[in-house]
Amino acid sequence: MKDYKKLGDEYILHTYNRYPIVLERGEGVKLYDDKGKEYLDFAAGIAVYALGYGNKEFNDALKAQIDKIMHTSNLYYNEPACEAAKELCDVAKMDRVFFTNSGTEAIEGAIKTARKYAYLKDGSTDHNIIAMESSFHGRSMGALSVTGNAHYREAFEPGIGNVKFATYNDLGSVERLTDEKTCAVIMETVQGEGGIHPAEEEFIRGVKKLCDEKGILLILDEIQCGMGRTGYMFAWEKYGVKPDVVTIAKALGNGVPVGAFAMTSEVADASLVPGDHGTTYGGNPFACAAVREVLRQYEKRDIVSHVRELTPALEEALDSLKDKYDFIKDRRGAGFMQALELDRPCAKVISRAQENGLLVISAGADTIRIVPPLIISKGDISDMRDRLDKALSES
Ligand SMILES: *Cc1c(COP(=O)(O)O)cnc(C)c1O
Repeated sequence: MKDYKKLGDEYILHTYNRYPIVLERGEGVKLYDDKGKEYLDFAAGIAVYALGYGNKEFNDALKAQIDKIMHTSNLYYNEPACEAAKELCDVAKMDRVFFTNSGTEAIEGAIKTARKYAYLKDGSTDHNIIAMESSFHGRSMGALSVTGNAHYREAFEPGIGNVKFATYNDLGSVERLTDEKTCAVIMETVQGEGGIHPAEEEFIRGVKKLCDEKGILLILDEIQCGMGRTGYMFAWEKYGVKPDVVTIAKALGNGVPVGAFAMTSEVADASLVPGDHGTTYGGNPFACAAVREVLRQYEKRDIVSHVRELTPALEEALDSLKDKYDFIKDRRGAGFMQALELDRPCAKVISRAQENGLLVISAGADTIRIVPPLIISKGDISDMRDRLDKALSES
């Protein structure tokens, strides 16, 4: 058997400290490594594989598209992109969408949209963007510039400039930073990497009201919390606020790299025009065949209702662990986007869980993040609870 860990460490640029597991294949919510060991997957490739592994209808849809055509460029129309665009706009209650290859690129597009929108209004280029502390929006220069983790940004400064950071869930901090040159507020509806922090209702509604009053665009990053994960197709629906621009990725392609930014017609008609933005691959027939099939299955299987129905069971399982171990400080989250915060680093628990055949990930050093495929059953939840219980007792 080849030593893939050694091979990877030698040739893949060392920007990740990988866990010592070589994953080979998956079936439903189970993953198998190169030695045949089974893992119950409550990480889903970081909130990506919503519809599970080895999903036959999904794989068949991809194979059929491969046999037709995978790529055409955006100089021509293609069937899957046109259909996926309409269906995504319908579920996101938006009017126009641009497909990207990743979440980060969706953020780039959203930022460019906001700057162009503001530029067309007053002809100036000195607008600012308000982002949130402890947010995460990606690793490109633009996305990094609105990411509220100074440690990620430090070595790569200067960023795009004119970005100010407010405190998440503190409306006053947003109000204080707002001025006549503010073109956008960007934030996650539920902060993911920052530790799984849902927006408080008063906060998000207050930000929306402020944006509406001052003609500021509200960009909600739903790359992680969108696509049904919180028990709503998009997390904002719970609060009754609708953004002007939304970014989507992760679960959108169920493993095929694809993202999107979508907007209202009001924004679309007064921002980007031909020549302003583009991508060679983005929205190609292969990626959009994935999006189209994902959305078809969400509807057919009513994934959102399933998440909502099983959320109490997941929360109860995690709460029972919180009650059992006094080093668990907090259980929080929304739907199938949950966290257990410890009073100590969680790396050991994650390793022990892996040994016990459970994959969970972290969100910050002390927080265990639970973002399973959205198709898990009640049995999977109790299985997860048992395996995590064992890992916690051994840590
Ligand atoms: C993962 C993530 C991104 C970046 O997406 P990539 O596909 O990794 O580029 C941006 N925003 C949020 C909220 C994310 O969770």
